[in-house]
Amino acid sequence: MEQVAKWLQQSKKTVVLTGAGMSTESGIPDFRSKSGWWRNIDPATVATVEALTNDYDLFHAFYSARFAALNGCEPHAGHSILADWEQRGLIARVATQNVDGLHKAAGSQNIDELHGSLHRVRCQQCGKQATTEQFLAKEPCPNCGGRLRPGIVLFGETLPQNAWNQALYTIETADVVLVIGTSLQVYPVNQLPKMTGGKLVYINQEAAGYEKEFDLVIQGSAKEILQQVNSYL
Ligand code: NAD
Repeated sequence: MEQVAKWLQQSKKTVVLTGAGMSTESGIPDFRSKSGWWRNIDPATVATVEALTNDYDLFHAFYSARFAALNGCEPHAGHSILADWEQRGLIARVATQNVDGLHKAAGSQNIDELHGSLHRVRCQQCGKQATTEQFLAKEPCPNCGGRLRPGIVLFGETLPQNAWNQALYTIETADVVLVIGTSLQVYPVNQLPKMTGGKLVYINQEAAGYEKEFDLVIQGSAKEILQQVNSYL
């Protein structure tokens, strides 16, 4: 942790890449660890354009449950530390696979939402924006009658170009990249850490097997590790 703090102080550009493990301590389950969502529900059957097109009931039930899981969830101290580091010029950007909006809620400003956001509901057919309430009530698009969906990237869809380009550029040119709370199983985001020439740090609950790919691996809670690094700054 002391080493990470030193690298942060020496670095001209530090980028943070987060995944679902960044939000579990806010009460939002991840997908792949022991208590994760996808133990019971296969994401490949729901988080897809096929489900949206062919089985809207299942698609709608899954995403309604994801909205319900966000209810009352707040950013934790780790999110706030990242926002504070941005304010203090210690990190340049946060690239995230999370769709829960917690980095923004904590005050981070330079965020690349690589998998979109649950909070931006739109019509699959005409693209017009709608409200979360309209989606949850299973209403058709008020503009064209099409199916409403959250603004997240489904399996098989391309990532938002601007967010991807911005994250790729910052990671390529970073001196330090902190990768936090991701299993690095989802393509193409799992390729991003390989794109940097800078120091690579992996902070994750389950970290075995990543020692060769990273300069430093710290196994444990994202919140606690960020708090400890912060205490050295
Ligand atoms: P993942 O579920 O595949 O992996 C999460 C990783 O975080 C696991 O390796 C786990 O060990 C680790 N982890 C869990 N709790 C932790 C903690 N407190 N501290 C540190 N590490 C912890 O998630 P992923 O790699 O982000 O990929 C899954 C996909 O699911 C992404 O596309 C993402 O968009 C989506 N997703 C998002 C949310 C969210 O927005 N909060 C939640 C679930 C899934």
